[in-house]
Amino acid sequence: MENPERPATVLIVEDEPGIADILRITLKYHGFTVHTAATGRQAVAAAREHRPDLVLLDVMLPDGNGWEVCRTLRAESDDLAVIFVTARDAPRDVVGGLALGGDDYITKPFGVDEVVARVHAVLRRTRRETEPADPVLRHGDLEMDETTYTVRRAGEPVDLTPTEYNLLRHLLRNAGRIVTKEQLLQHVWQYDTVVESTVVETYISYLRRKLDRLGPPLIETRRGIGYGLRALA
Ligand code: CA
Repeated sequence: MENPERPATVLIVEDEPGIADILRITLKYHGFTVHTAATGRQAVAAAREHRPDLVLLDVMLPDGNGWEVCRTLRAESDDLAVIFVTARDAPRDVVGGLALGGDDYITKPFGVDEVVARVHAVLRRTRRETEPADPVLRHGDLEMDETTYTVRRAGEPVDLTPTEYNLLRHLLRNAGRIVTKEQLLQHVWQYDTVVESTVVETYISYLRRKLDRLGPPLIETRRGIGYGLRALA
């Protein structure tokens, strides 16, 4: 039986260094122990050495395809969770095969928050990862309930669009520090979607309009750096 207190180990199998880096940095940041492999052969060796709980497995590898790797890995460890990563324009039968062979699949391009959410969801199923005890994020008079997607300030409901919600959630999860515009673009908007960097300012102003009518100014601008939540009494 796995010890749920031990941070889960994730093996990233990806031959595109840029994508491998983003996944590695993101999952490390979220507390996972991370190993990487760039080929199927490396993946099999790394799995033997590190015994991962979950593998993020690119389908198109330089020395073969992800299914063969998945079969080999599962033959050696049948409780291993596998999330396939594939291009969005993959043929329909590929996508169908993914659904059968893995615990889940993610299509590129993806947002890093989506990857983290999928990894947690699959691990919860496969190793009964414990849910956080309190699903409510709090900061001063602000409350965000992540199970019902509701936000309240000073007890008043605040109606947010999905993008505004994701932006506020990222600020809340990083309360007490400044988050750069770059990080917000990466976490809230898909990292490889071309969006104007002014989109962050625009959405910050939407959030301020909705939140600041219920209390003192909440979001702080650190000019040239980014944004954070002001400490509230
Ligand atoms: Ca690839």
